[in-house]
Amino acid sequence: MGVRARPVVTGIYRWPQANPQYDVGHLARMRVMEAMVAADLPGLHLTGSAYRGVGLPDCIEQGRTTAEAVVARVEEAMKQQRHGYFPA
Ligand SMILES: Cc1cc2nc3c(=O)[nH]c(=O)nc-3n(C[C@H](O)[C@H](O)[C@H](O)COP(=O)(O)OP(=O)(O)OC[C@H]3O[C@@H](n4cnc5c(N)ncnc54)[C@H](O)[C@@H]3O)c2cc1C
Repeated sequence: MGVRARPVVTGIYRWPQANPQYDVGHLARMRVMEAMVAADLPGLHLTGSAYRGVGLPDCIEQGRTTAEAVVARVEEAMKQQRHGYFPA
């Protein structure tokens, strides 16, 4: 905008009850947790504001991705059952 004048009024307003912030290292912990779940609990999906973004667009995207993964897993299980394979 090219504004060069010093501000007349400044202030910092903190909202401690606002949206939560993830701790430093959150994404690294997420990767470890998702790998553990995929290895030990296939079929369990983690999704929502606790994981990869608290905003509604983030939650919607996560929900869609998870729904697609669930559908793919169910379709695969149905295909295997049609061919006589019953997973434990
Ligand atoms: C007041 C407020 C205003 C916000 N405004 C905005 C905004 O303007 N823009 C924006 O992008 N984001 C906004 N957010 C953030 C956003 O709404 C949330 O981060 C998002 O809705 C979280 O989605 P979620 O699916 O992870 O969790 P939730 O929407 O909380 O859904 C969790 C669901 O699980 C259900 N549930 C919980 N426990 C159990 C159980 N044991 N068994 C079965 N069901 C259970 C709950 O009933 C709920 O329906 C706002 C949040 C708040 C609180």
